Order: sequence, then C-alpha cells, then structure tokens
Amino acid sequence: MTGPLIENPVVREIVEKYRVLWALGHAMGLMGWDSQTYMPRAGNEERGLARAELSVLSRQLLLRPEFVELVERARGLEGLNDVERGVVRVLWREIDRARKVPPEFVYEMAKTAQEANMAWREAREKDDFEIFRPHLEKIVELARRLAEYLGYEEHPYNALLDLYEEGLRIRDVDAVFDSIIPASKRVLERVLSEGYYPRHHPWEDEPYEREALERVNREVLDLLEYPWDRARLDVSPHPFTISLGVRDVRITTRYEGVDFKRTIYSVVHEYGHALYELQQDERLIATPVVGGASLGVHESQSRFWENIVGRSMAFAERLKAILDKHLDFVREASVEELYRYVNTVRPSLIRVDADEVTYNFHIYLRYQLEKQLIAGELKVADLPEVWADMMEKLLGVRPRTHREGVLQDIHWSYGSIGYFPTYTLGNVIAAQIRARIASELAPVEELVREGRLADLRAWLREKIHVHGKTYPPKELVERALGEPMNPEYFNRYLEEKYLRGKA
Ligand code: MG
Repeated sequence: MTGPLIENPVVREIVEKYRVLWALGHAMGLMGWDSQTYMPRAGNEERGLARAELSVLSRQLLLRPEFVELVERARGLEGLNDVERGVVRVLWREIDRARKVPPEFVYEMAKTAQEANMAWREAREKDDFEIFRPHLEKIVELARRLAEYLGYEEHPYNALLDLYEEGLRIRDVDAVFDSIIPASKRVLERVLSEGYYPRHHPWEDEPYEREALERVNREVLDLLEYPWDRARLDVSPHPFTISLGVRDVRITTRYEGVDFKRTIYSVVHEYGHALYELQQDERLIATPVVGGASLGVHESQSRFWENIVGRSMAFAERLKAILDKHLDFVREASVEELYRYVNTVRPSLIRVDADEVTYNFHIYLRYQLEKQLIAGELKVADLPEVWADMMEKLLGVRPRTHREGVLQDIHWSYGSIGYFPTYTLGNVIAAQIRARIASELAPVEELVREGRLADLRAWLREKIHVHGKTYPPKELVERALGEPMNPEYFNRYLEEKYLRGKA
C-alpha cells in the first residue's frame, strides 16, 4: 500500500490540524488502559481529574473556529475520494454533536455517571436495587435530555442508537429481533430436547492452574499468528481491547481459576477486535478515519473469531493439541468432548455467560426495556419486576436476586443507553460474513481445518479492516457483503450448527 490517500489540499489541511486531537486521544487511551491494568487503585481520583481536563481541552480543540470553518468548507467540495469524504463525514458528526450538547450537560452527565457507577457497585454488592434506583432515574432523565439536544425522528431512542451505531434506527433493530427471536426459540427447544449440546459440562467446575492457562492463551494467540511486536496480552478484571495505534493494540483477559474455556474464549474474542485495528491501511494512521466503523461492526469481528471460528469442530481440533500439553483432564478426552464443552447451551440469567443460542434474548430484553424507559412508558422503580417477568417469559428462568437480574450490567451506570443492540448486530453481521466467505473462498470450517487462517485474515482485511471509518457502517456492510445486514444468515448459522449435528 503506497501513495497518499488524502490529496485534496483542504482535507490535507484538516488532517494536519486534526493531528493534535489524535495525539490527545492517543494519550487518553493509554491512560485508560493503564487505569484498567496496572495503575495503583488509589490513583483513580487524580487520573479521573486529568482525564476530565483533557476531555474539555479536546472539545475546545475540536471546536476551534478555524478548524470548524475548514471542515464546513470541505463539506461543500465536489470530487473528493472515499477516504477524503470519510474524513469530512466523521469530523462533521463529531463537531455537530459537540455543538448540540452544551458543555454543562457533558459535565453533569460525567459527574452523574461517576456517582451512579459507585452506587451501582454498592447496590450490586448488597443486592439492593434501592441504592441504585435514584441514580438510574437521573441517568434516564439525562439520556432523554441528550436525545432532545441531538434531535431525532419518531422516537428519542433513535438519537441514542445513533450515538453508538451511526445510522441505526429502531426499525432496523426491530427487523433483526423479529427474525432472530422466534428462530432462536425453535433452535433452543430442539437443542434442549436432543441433549447433544450439554446444558452443563463437568469441566465447568474443574479448577485449573493459572500458569497453565497463561501458556495456553499465548499458544492460542500464536496459532492465530498474533503479531507480538505490535500487540500485547495483559490481565484486567474485565477483558477488553484498546488500540493506541495501528501498530500498538492491546488485549486483556482474566483468570478465574475454574472453567478454563472462559479465559480462552475471551482471548479469542478480543483477538477479533484487535485484528480489526491491526489490519487497517497504515496510511490512515493519525487521521480521523482510523479505527473501527462502529461498535456493531467491531463486535462482528470479535464474534466471528470467538464463535464462528473458535467454537467450530475444526478449531476444537487445533485447541485440543494445545490443551493436551497443559491440562491432564483434557488429554484423556476426545476432541468431540472438548467441542461439546465449549458449546454448552442453556437458558441462563447472566448475559455475559450466555451461549450463542441464548445470548440475543438477553439483548432483546434490554432493548425493549431501554426503549420504554426513554419513552417514559416504564418507571425505573418497576424495572426489577418487569425484568424478571420478561426473563421468565423469554427463557423460562427467573432471577432470585437483583444481581442475577437488573443489577448485572455496568452499562446503565455509565450512562450508556442504546449501546446493547450493537452486541446483537455483531452476532448477526458475523454470521453474514461466514456465509459470504463460504461463497467467495471456502467454508470457514474448511479454512480452519486446512490451516488457512491467513486467507481468512486477508479476506477480512480487504473487505472490512483496511477501510477504518471511511464508510458509515451500513455502507461498509453492503460493500463488503454485497447486501444490507440480513438476520436470516444468523438463523441459518444456528440451524446448520445446532440442528444438524456438528457443523
Ligand atoms: Mg466485544
């Protein structure tokens, strides 16, 4: 890849002036990574203060009159190439948002979220929803105000969806769930009655030595040809990926000491996120279009590697060879046993523990409740009861504690409403990628069995990764996959895997 992508003089000037904003983002990213990994706990307050100051500075830099003017001028230019148009689109979205939302509101939201997060932790620990309730009420009220500042058509929730997934609307999300919820219900019933995929596997209770799984995780990443000179693996309480640059991407995992698949599959999941960042066109470095197209597209990459590659029989074969060296109880078992262990299916209460058949039910529930909260059709005080009823209706299980129900996720405490649907988008787009690869290359299972992971990576790079944020997510999906997002592929994937044996 050679030659500049950005040639128009106005857009070049924009990118040069943008570089300081990129540098601030880079510094804040590193501060964020540090907070979640190695920072002494007591450093929290000073770090929070420093980050708040830098956010204010970042907003000021974005709204410099000469910078805004330049972007405004570029919006009127004709004959820009795709990347140049992307630069202008991404920056205009940021400027527009920063101008619509008053800084006092941003400050109030940040302060509320910080307090709400602390209250959520306490409420969760004591299993007392009342501790969190007034904070969540405030968050919902602020989210509603945010929607008013941003503007929307038809429903205030549309403004919030668009924050996390450019162009996403209620009608898109409804279309997805209308298709996958009934189809997943049918698959779930069959899986539970047939029993090939176990509800529970004894290895879930099997303890392991942390050092053994550290070695396994490194070997799994070696198998995936993780570029250690441009990427790291660390430990944090909640696994995540952060990209400080195209040549500096960091993932984390955690070791719970029991049920070894959890740490391995969190590594494979985060690897999918990391690969997206690592395979971008290096000419995008330090420009506004570096990074993933959206949360949904990003999650499609992690889910593709975690579930479609990682939970296949072909991958179980490769994984077994690694595990045999480090876990005695696995060495004595068959590949099929390992495959069944990594593919347990059961209706459960906790989203993050859910398998690929039941996962989207958890998102559907949160999506419905968020919409009602934002529309003022549901009171926060009624949330625990409504949550429990809906859970029982969807999956036949009812939380006995708030921890197992309404208090399980961190998202609302941070003020994130409208975020959850992007997880399901990720699952749906991943299945669509699987179908496209099968028609253009070979079935994913075959590629994994033949060790052609480089072909898989090259396909993802060319179709999705190189572009960064050049195209809005809907356009990127259509370009890469030849059609708009289509949930039928997800249904077909579940049916092929779970109803016909061992895909
Ligand atoms: Mg993820």
